[in-house]
Amino acid sequence: MKYHLDTIPVWDAYHEESECPFCILEDKAEKAYVDSFLGGSVMEPDTRIEVNDKGFCPHHNELLYEAQNRLGLALMTHTHIMETIKKLKKQAEDLTKVAENPDKGLGLFRKKSSGEPNLKLAMQDFSIWLQGHMNECIICERLQNALNQFAYTFIHLWGHDKEFRKVFQNSKGFCFSHLALVLDMAAQSLNKSKQAEFIKELLPMQMDNMERLEKELFWFTQKFDHKNQDKPWGDSKDALPRTLQKLTGNYMR
Ligand SMILES: [Zn+2]
Ligand SMILES: [Zn+2]
Repeated sequence: MKYHLDTIPVWDAYHEESECPFCILEDKAEKAYVDSFLGGSVMEPDTRIEVNDKGFCPHHNELLYEAQNRLGLALMTHTHIMETIKKLKKQAEDLTKVAENPDKGLGLFRKKSSGEPNLKLAMQDFSIWLQGHMNECIICERLQNALNQFAYTFIHLWGHDKEFRKVFQNSKGFCFSHLALVLDMAAQSLNKSKQAEFIKELLPMQMDNMERLEKELFWFTQKFDHKNQDKPWGDSKDALPRTLQKLTGNYMR
């Protein structure tokens, strides 16, 4: 995949105070996608076809539902359920065939060496199809693409922009989800010596910030003790949502 540079959103995210600038980027991009699917603008025919085919995952259906454009969502969901019924019919026919004749072969793709009964395997296949269908999501796919783009931009800025590098060194590291994203991109796009330089800069800073957060969360728990009632909160008031964000990548405001 070829990535292009998109420096302004990355700089903007680094100018905001947060536990992870990529959580801000993801949150903004996600909101923009939800709006774009429900907004007044006419959807491109290609996108329409993709929505009919894939639909949205449970999390993004929830966001779309909360966005209060019930007609827009109903229209999209209606064409999606029509497509889904066609696919379900095919799956149901396949499973019924096996149920009617459980001792016949299962087709080319299923390994027969497992020794499991055909009907059990076919039921498991159906279940795998259902899970896959339910989690397919056009917003997840676009979001992943956008995040890769931002990670590519971030690595480029880190390597080429001294001012950005200083801002990065004074940032709070990343949440686990985006630490993984950034590491993957560094492994892909930096040469060996730059990779080593990046790791040596990133990890101490990430560890310092994990320890800072642990102390902030500890003080948050201590504030529940009546002896500490009148002592200052320091930075601990929102330590719990920030720690949860750091550990899971869920952006909580
Ligand atoms: Zn994050
Ligand atoms: Zn999704």
